[in-house]
Amino acid sequence: MAESTVLNNLVNALRCMPGIGKKSAQRIAYHLLQRDRQGARELARALTEAMDNIGHCHRCRTFSETDICRLCSSAKRDRSLLCVVENPPDVYAIEESDYRGLYFVLLGRLSPLDGIGPDALGLDKLQQLLAGGEVQEVILATNTTVEGEATAHFISEIVRTHGLRVTRIAHGIPMGGELEYVDSSTITHAIAGRREI
Ligand code: ZN
Repeated sequence: MAESTVLNNLVNALRCMPGIGKKSAQRIAYHLLQRDRQGARELARALTEAMDNIGHCHRCRTFSETDICRLCSSAKRDRSLLCVVENPPDVYAIEESDYRGLYFVLLGRLSPLDGIGPDALGLDKLQQLLAGGEVQEVILATNTTVEGEATAHFISEIVRTHGLRVTRIAHGIPMGGELEYVDSSTITHAIAGRREI
């Protein structure tokens, strides 16, 4: 079996998934061949369908099957608020809150060492949105990593040139969290972001 080209191709293809090395890919391939050929066929079909049909929203850049995504085309959203996030899963996370504005998805963050500059983040598209007249406040919800903070700072400068309000989400102690288990940089952020109660 080891010299089967088809099997080798399958193992190599499985390695495109994050966190899957050669050993894991082999284990998955054998599992599917031995125990779940039907599941594997459905997976192959779902992958092809998704790759063929899911693109990016022309307005906010999140994943979408239509030119303009469901959120951007909804009449129920507050168009004066624009929340900037790094990746599509961040949108789903914030949708769990009571935020009802719109989004802009960078699909990454500034990372000069990896060659990711402003162009790769669609900032020209963001500028068009800001110039469109609907947005009044931009909420920067990039991650609190060094690169995420640098990205937030870079975008805040752009937003200011449009004369719009720009805010950064507060990062702090998780609900139900106990201070003694929270790391010092989180506590520093929480204190810096304190507000009147
Ligand atoms: Zn959209």
